[in-house]
Amino acid sequence: MSPITHFLASWIIASATTTNSRDRKLVTLAGVLPDADGLGLVADVAVSTISGKENTFYYYQQYHHYWLHGWPGAILVTALLVSFARHRWRVALLCFPMFHLHLVCDLIGSRGPTLGDLWPIAFSEPLFRRPVFFWKGQWRLDGWQNRIICVVLVAAELFLAARRGYSCLEVFSQKADAVFVSVLQKWRTALKRQKVPG
Ligand SMILES: [Zn+2]
Repeated sequence: MSPITHFLASWIIASATTTNSRDRKLVTLAGVLPDADGLGLVADVAVSTISGKENTFYYYQQYHHYWLHGWPGAILVTALLVSFARHRWRVALLCFPMFHLHLVCDLIGSRGPTLGDLWPIAFSEPLFRRPVFFWKGQWRLDGWQNRIICVVLVAAELFLAARRGYSCLEVFSQKADAVFVSVLQKWRTALKRQKVPG
């Protein structure tokens, strides 16, 4: 699935299971960081722009789902994130499954344009080549299923942010989060007033 979908899903789960902003951010990151191995895409675009040659997405194809889409990556990322946590045990027990939720989501919804473009999860890479998991029913990365999931997550995020007083923007900036949430809460109050007759 797309990094945005992973981010929203991870934040919603993190916001329901942690007790402070720092741990919430860390647990959210556990659900997004596996896609850091797709940053070869930036190198691909840079190489193609500089050389003037067609982009073959070499680094992206080569390393995405290779470095951080297996249990070695899960251990590494969890250990890294836990070292910044307030409640270490809780964050460890959340980060590890969150990382795996990312893998499961990729397994069900990350196919390329054709039916043969299945994207498998080599669960022990980069250490071992096996086991390799794939699902024949894997839907397209840009398929309607992923779009619906994303729309539902955005709606849930807006609802929760207005109710709880913080949003997923807190991961990037507390200031932007405060402004965003105050606008959402104003809209929410205005909507409530409209519903009350008279
Ligand atoms: Zn992924």
